[in-house]
Amino acid sequence: MMTITCPWCGKRRENEFTYGGPVPLARPDNRGDISDKAWAEYLFMRDNVKGIARERWCHSHGCGQWFTMRRDTVTHKIHSIEKTGDAGEP
Ligand SMILES: [Zn+2]
Repeated sequence: MMTITCPWCGKRRENEFTYGGPVPLARPDNRGDISDKAWAEYLFMRDNVKGIARERWCHSHGCGQWFTMRRDTVTHKIHSIEKTGDAGEP
């Protein structure tokens, strides 16, 4: 099990966190007239990165805050963790 350092709470076990998807993930602007297929692709189709990935995580069973983590998806080594918005992202 991974140990993740929440930027607000410190080190906690992985099972306190929820994966929120890759960063950046741009939500379509035209949600009112987008096709069902395009909307489904936005919701469910993700790149399956092998190596370093930037991911959104939430300390869902703790403080509830979102943050961005750079993690190797093969080794699970965590390279960096930053509060959401620290790197200029939404
Ligand atoms: Zn926390």
